[in-house]
Amino acid sequence: MSPKLLPRSVVEIAASVRGGEVSAESITQASLDAVAARDGQLGGFLSVAADLALQRARDIDLRRERGETLGPLAGVPIALKDALCTKDQPTTSGSRILAQGIDQQGRAIDPWRPPYDATVVARLRAADAVFIGKSNLDEFAMGSSNENSAFRLARNPWNLDRTPGGSSGGSAVAVAGRMTAGALGSDTGGSVRQPAALTGTVGVKPSYGRVSRYGLIAFASSFDQVGPITHDVASSAAMLQIIAGADPADGTTTHHRVGAYREACSRGVAGMRIGVPAEYFADGLDDEVAAQVRRAIAALEENGASISNIELPHTRHAVATYYILATAECSSNLSRFDGVRFGHRAHGSQTLREVYETTRGGGFGPEVKRRIMLGTYVLSAGYYDAYYRRAQQVRTLIRRDFEHAFQSVDLIATPVSPTVAFPLGSKLDDPLAMYLADVYTLPASLAGIAAISVPCGLGSASGLPVGLQIIAPSFAEEQMFQAAQVVEDTAPDREVIPQACQS
Ligand code: GLN
Repeated sequence: MSPKLLPRSVVEIAASVRGGEVSAESITQASLDAVAARDGQLGGFLSVAADLALQRARDIDLRRERGETLGPLAGVPIALKDALCTKDQPTTSGSRILAQGIDQQGRAIDPWRPPYDATVVARLRAADAVFIGKSNLDEFAMGSSNENSAFRLARNPWNLDRTPGGSSGGSAVAVAGRMTAGALGSDTGGSVRQPAALTGTVGVKPSYGRVSRYGLIAFASSFDQVGPITHDVASSAAMLQIIAGADPADGTTTHHRVGAYREACSRGVAGMRIGVPAEYFADGLDDEVAAQVRRAIAALEENGASISNIELPHTRHAVATYYILATAECSSNLSRFDGVRFGHRAHGSQTLREVYETTRGGGFGPEVKRRIMLGTYVLSAGYYDAYYRRAQQVRTLIRRDFEHAFQSVDLIATPVSPTVAFPLGSKLDDPLAMYLADVYTLPASLAGIAAISVPCGLGSASGLPVGLQIIAPSFAEEQMFQAAQVVEDTAPDREVIPQACQS
């Protein structure tokens, strides 16, 4: 491994900064150097806060010299999905509507600056993490390829002609491209897990209610959860440990005990019951993905888990159900972007209606408009019963499938994505094909339960990363990490470095 590459482990960086073996400033500088060297090509960041990051790193070093105890993520360089509010950095959610324009380099002109930090951001700050910048995403987190970003194309560090996935594509690129050690993304229907799978990183969607949504720009509030993207499972556990827990500012968070996630990682899977649902291995799953996923499941068995076949019969309705409910929620959530309260306002309008029409017409991209229209339609009088209410009922059936399965198994193992990273542009003109990329991540989102994507090898045909998904009951993140660690420990190809990081 090239000595110049940023260390991969959040846990190791924090330990060596806290122990004084390395300065937070030198780690931050290494991260910023990597961004300067690679991000022009990779497109992982929408904004970089170099001065702020260095200032903060020096402050952390000073505090250590003074004998203060540093936080558990001391000096760890982190990328924040640009859907998370940051009081000292711009926030655009990948949308033109939160900026006054876009310059030649694809940078936001005079973007929105939130007056407060999202709770997850405040918690990482309090843990002494260092924020390198805001990462690229599909506009308002809607998409599976990052191609809906209003600003820049994000490229997969393993193959620059491929997507890094979405919507937290930039967060995955920052980590896989060795520009930061960790990142936060948000997962509504797969937006942390799928980009993690396509870039060979670890991504967690916590149980609904486990992590505060306060200050996460809302897409579909009954689904949205913030989760970490890292290189390894222990680092993922360490980050979740910091961001998890009740928050008075988000009434959907729970007081349910936060587990000891780091400790759980070393417990192994002996005696654990893991279910494999036939519905996730049907037509449309690429052979090279299936092969690595099955190998990883066999490794879990060799390590003492008992594997059984299970059924999740309503899986086939997940895509339709999600795209009704998520669009309905987004049509309501995005009504706040009206040209009056935030960001951009179109000039030259005479009436309030014209302000709305021209601001929203010019400010939202095509996918966001499509979803607002679909969502408004499924909620409208006369169609509500046929679509929205029915989708709510099917959501319950999907949740019950999992409840039933979890009576006989502790965890469920599946693929994350039916394919490895697909070529940029290949699904752009076909929204339905793009929606189908989410087929394996949507059910856990509909059920509100926990899931993780862990790298489990490279595809034999493409040489690109494959992810295994481990789905756990609500608030069983500890068991999820136990199995994830075994998958990581037994995965082949772990030392292969993405193409973009080799030079
Ligand atoms: N790809 C899915 C969508 O476009 C999920 C997005 C997400 O999780 N934010 O809605």
